[in-house]
Amino acid sequence: MNEARAPEEPVVCARCGKTAESVPVTWTCSVENGRREYFCEECARENIRAIEGRLDSSWW
Ligand SMILES: [Zn+2]
Repeated sequence: MNEARAPEEPVVCARCGKTAESVPVTWTCSVENGRREYFCEECARENIRAIEGRLDSSWW
Protein backbone atom coordinates (compact mmCIF):
# COMPACT_ATOMS: atom_id res chain seq x y z
CA MET A 1 0.00 0.00 0.00
CA ASN A 2 1.16 3.50 -0.70
CA GLU A 3 1.23 5.45 2.54
CA ALA A 4 1.99 8.75 0.87
CA ARG A 5 -0.53 11.42 1.53
CA ALA A 6 -3.05 11.45 -1.28
CA PRO A 7 -5.47 14.35 -1.08
CA GLU A 8 -7.93 12.60 -3.29
CA GLU A 9 -10.90 12.56 -0.99
CA PRO A 10 -13.93 14.13 -2.61
CA VAL A 11 -14.64 17.67 -1.63
CA VAL A 12 -18.05 19.21 -1.18
CA CYS A 13 -18.93 22.84 -1.44
CA ALA A 14 -20.04 23.92 2.02
CA ARG A 15 -22.62 26.24 0.55
CA CYS A 16 -24.30 24.62 -2.44
CA GLY A 17 -23.24 21.01 -1.98
CA LYS A 18 -21.44 20.73 -5.30
CA THR A 19 -18.87 17.96 -5.29
CA ALA A 20 -15.51 17.42 -6.95
CA GLU A 21 -13.10 14.52 -6.92
CA SER A 22 -10.22 16.78 -5.95
CA VAL A 23 -10.00 20.42 -5.00
CA PRO A 24 -10.16 22.50 -8.17
CA VAL A 25 -7.81 25.46 -8.20
CA THR A 26 -10.79 27.76 -8.52
CA TRP A 27 -12.24 26.56 -5.23
CA THR A 28 -11.60 28.32 -1.97
CA CYS A 29 -10.61 26.58 1.22
CA SER A 30 -11.33 28.14 4.56
CA VAL A 31 -10.98 26.80 8.07
CA GLU A 32 -13.98 27.31 10.26
CA ASN A 33 -13.90 26.07 13.85
CA GLY A 34 -11.01 23.74 13.04
CA ARG A 35 -12.88 22.23 10.12
CA ARG A 36 -11.74 22.66 6.58
CA GLU A 37 -14.50 23.83 4.33
CA TYR A 38 -14.50 24.35 0.62
CA PHE A 39 -16.44 26.71 -1.55
CA CYS A 40 -16.83 26.30 -5.27
CA GLU A 41 -15.92 29.11 -7.60
CA GLU A 42 -19.36 30.68 -7.57
CA CYS A 43 -19.86 30.36 -3.84
CA ALA A 44 -16.35 31.59 -3.10
CA ARG A 45 -17.22 34.71 -5.01
CA GLU A 46 -20.33 35.15 -2.90
CA ASN A 47 -18.36 34.32 0.22
CA ILE A 48 -15.75 36.96 -0.51
CA ARG A 49 -18.46 39.47 -1.21
CA ALA A 50 -20.13 38.62 2.08
CA ILE A 51 -16.87 38.99 3.96
CA GLU A 52 -16.11 42.29 2.31
CA GLY A 53 -19.62 43.50 3.01
CA ARG A 54 -19.50 42.12 6.55
CA LEU A 55 -22.90 40.60 6.05
CA ASP A 56 -24.43 38.28 8.56
CA SER A 57 -22.95 34.91 7.65
CA SER A 58 -24.05 32.94 10.68
CA TRP A 59 -25.88 30.53 8.41
CA TRP A 60 -22.59 29.20 7.11
ZN1 LIG B 1 -20.92 26.12 -4.20
